[in-house]
Amino acid sequence: MKKFIGVIGFGSQASMDDETAFEAGYLATEYQAVPETPGRVYIRTFGCQMNVYDSEKILAFLQDRYLPTDSVENADLIILNTCSIRDKAEQKVYSLLGRFRSLKESNPDLLIGVGGCVAQQEGERMLRRLPQVDLVFGTHNINELTRIIDERLSTGRRVCRVEKDRFQVSSAAAPRTEGVRSPTALLTIMKGCDNYCAYCIVPMVRGREASRGMSGIMDEARHLVDSGVREITLLGQNVNSYHDPETGSGFLELLEKLDSIGSLKRLRFVTSHPKNFSSDMAHAMAGLRSVCEHVHLPVQAGSDRVLKAMKRGYTIEEYLDTVSVLRELVPGVEISTDIIVGFPGEGRDDFLKTISLLEKVRYQNVFSFRFSPRPGTAAANMEDPVPQKKKRPWLPELQEVQNLITSQKHASMAGKIVEVLVEGYDRRENAGLEGRTRNNYIVHFHGPKILVGETIKVRISRSHGIHLEGKVL
Ligand code: SF4
Repeated sequence: MKKFIGVIGFGSQASMDDETAFEAGYLATEYQAVPETPGRVYIRTFGCQMNVYDSEKILAFLQDRYLPTDSVENADLIILNTCSIRDKAEQKVYSLLGRFRSLKESNPDLLIGVGGCVAQQEGERMLRRLPQVDLVFGTHNINELTRIIDERLSTGRRVCRVEKDRFQVSSAAAPRTEGVRSPTALLTIMKGCDNYCAYCIVPMVRGREASRGMSGIMDEARHLVDSGVREITLLGQNVNSYHDPETGSGFLELLEKLDSIGSLKRLRFVTSHPKNFSSDMAHAMAGLRSVCEHVHLPVQAGSDRVLKAMKRGYTIEEYLDTVSVLRELVPGVEISTDIIVGFPGEGRDDFLKTISLLEKVRYQNVFSFRFSPRPGTAAANMEDPVPQKKKRPWLPELQEVQNLITSQKHASMAGKIVEVLVEGYDRRENAGLEGRTRNNYIVHFHGPKILVGETIKVRISRSHGIHLEGKVL
């Protein structure tokens, strides 16, 4: 039996809003048989877990027409799902697109699409600057991707679709790629952010904070669990300020509801803003069976002066109080964080306060970055009396301190018996299985593949600095 897809002919985007364009396109629908052999899509994801989730959605939306490939040379469609949080990540996208130019020259049928935050930020400018790019789609336009591709194919025009003004988040369950059977899954509960931290481009590119309806989240979670998922990570820029747009119920109620899904073994969430992380949250973590003992609590700097300039909304004393409450109420909890080094005006004294914070808190992991001015943010225009040259060595200095703490913490796990959710195979040859403890230690061990998705006991035999090795009991 033949399967059909619509090829939509749109009118001028300049004169139509999105709804009108869709309606006109619907009326002009022609039908075309899906090729017997589906195309191949290569997708490269930059940035945070939100983008990883969006890339999964992109693959799911495309699955009737394109199968994923790891090879850019074999692809019929290349998609870069981009990140603009730091200049380096953005430059990497441009450099990759430069390399793809020759692929496009040797295969004019190849389609190249750019999504994510750089697409949201640059929009039409990207099409003007890069003739090899066929499609630019914003972070709120992922569900239109097949229509955008059809428009490119049917009109021959390169297409930019970036929703700027209407920031909404759909409550509907996201589609899932058929055939993907992983015991862990990501689930977006909200998008955008209202905090406007001085260095951060997220509110500009992802828009104002918007929460998904709780019933849609619950449907998606049940669907994931029914298809074999045992651990869900809830995603949002600031999950603690989640509220159901219909009922006003908050994040704690959402955790309680999700915890009542019996076959869901583990629940994680990221990211928590320290100013919104209440002691009620710590109590909920202690009391809810599925919520794992790990929190990502981005501190960004160890100096109150720098935190104030960053507009973070808490002091180090308040942050340390939150850490103490967590450690008191949630046995075995591990904490990770983000740190920006070299913020405008940050001096050596401020930096040393960050080092001392690392030594006090003893984070499991620290994601540390050099300050990178982003267009449109308050920090981009801040004067900095301390020359960058002087600050350059600070990042490796901080990383050295943290690497020692991370490896000491891993070494202290030797001999312990831990509960591990087996997530999959370690890709290295003969390396066996890989899983994670509830408090976020990665564990490698040997065992039959049938264990994937199971929760098992493992005795830790040794540490490899950032992961552990153990034996199944
Ligand atoms: S809380 Fe601050 S750092 Fe986090 S996304 Fe919002 S503006 Fe950016």
